[in-house]
Amino acid sequence: MAITSTKHHDTHEPAHRYGFDTLAIHAGQPNDPLTGAVNFPIYQTSTYGQEEIGGKPDFCYTRTGHPTRAALEANLAALEGARFGLAFSSGMAAINNVLNLLQAGDHVIACRDLYGGAYRIFTKLYAKFDVSFTFVDTRDPGSVRRAIRDNTRLLWLETPSNPLLTLTDIEACTSLARRAGVWSVVDNTFATPVLQRPLRLGADIVVHSTTKYLNGHSDVLGGAVITSDAELHEKLKFFQNCVGAVPGPQDCFLTLRGLKTLSLRVQRHCDNARRIAAFLETHPAIKRVHYPGAAHHPQAELARRQLSDFGGVISFELEDDIERVKRFSRGCRLWTLAESLGGVKSLFCHPATMTHASVEPDVRRANGITDGLIRLSVGLEDASDLIRDLDAALDAARDATRDARSARHRVEA
Ligand SMILES: *Cc1c(COP(=O)(O)O)cnc(C)c1O
Repeated sequence: MAITSTKHHDTHEPAHRYGFDTLAIHAGQPNDPLTGAVNFPIYQTSTYGQEEIGGKPDFCYTRTGHPTRAALEANLAALEGARFGLAFSSGMAAINNVLNLLQAGDHVIACRDLYGGAYRIFTKLYAKFDVSFTFVDTRDPGSVRRAIRDNTRLLWLETPSNPLLTLTDIEACTSLARRAGVWSVVDNTFATPVLQRPLRLGADIVVHSTTKYLNGHSDVLGGAVITSDAELHEKLKFFQNCVGAVPGPQDCFLTLRGLKTLSLRVQRHCDNARRIAAFLETHPAIKRVHYPGAAHHPQAELARRQLSDFGGVISFELEDDIERVKRFSRGCRLWTLAESLGGVKSLFCHPATMTHASVEPDVRRANGITDGLIRLSVGLEDASDLIRDLDAALDAARDATRDARSARHRVEA
């Protein structure tokens, strides 16, 4: 069953003819016609011999394209229900690719609660090319309407957001953008196309850090830009080749391998997260749990409408006290202190000093990222083991306060 030809993946059959899991395994990657290999081959070469001068070969130079990347790009497009996909060497390279659409004098509206690296490339790199940014609280779609100017070109959304899991109503915001002639972009890294398809909700472009759930095994860095708009795709593809932040054949192969089990993995991530969130809710050391599946999530209704499940990321707040957080961290055995998310192994991070360290402290605090905030990327281990480990670490965190108190007593004594 050749769902798409890798050579002509622009014109592949409509994705809706097959279910998501069938596409994840087949789209873009027929069995190798030469050998029958059931896995799409890696062509480890930087250049391709050409038949004649002035011919139009499918592949000529690996920056411009190679078969494994074409397979990956077709697969990514199919999973988002889109016509076109482009693969990059990282999520940041994918974000940069979309920002290449801008020119000096342009204006971008972005959600306030944003991946730190996205905030950094906006404010530290593109701002210096005279692109201006307005960060708004997109929980209120009206804030988008109020921020639109004559020179606004892009609306940048991330939902659920990192690290506070706030939600944006994609349909409401993208329709406002469309009416104003503004392209809307959704970073769909947290939800994945298993839980949410932004293009169907009116987005023009979806970006991913495939480093996270799409590859899912914490062993490769990658990014994707996906659209159904042929004109936009042509522009983005041109920038992709110009800039050259492209993934090599091995990385594309690994990502394709990860994608085959995407929905199975995401479902288990969601199931484990649900159990862990329920445990955290009851723990006395925790001040607040941020999880879109919680009944008390301020946008619980939108979460149910927009997401088919609630994902594998949970954030929670301990007392705003770095010593307590450090004790929690040292108390973890199964959970690893690390950047990143979406892999099989459970990770936790401290946004204030890690993923969001590049956000100015006052902006960070104003956005609700306290020193007591911990973000969990719930992995695929047994939920009961993960809970037991968290329980022990949280006990250790509480001991910190007791220690601090008794240390103070000692000093006072
Ligand atoms: C990690 C991440 C990125 C950046 O991706 P890299 O692959 O690390 O370059 C962008 N957006 C979100 C939401 C992320 O979590």
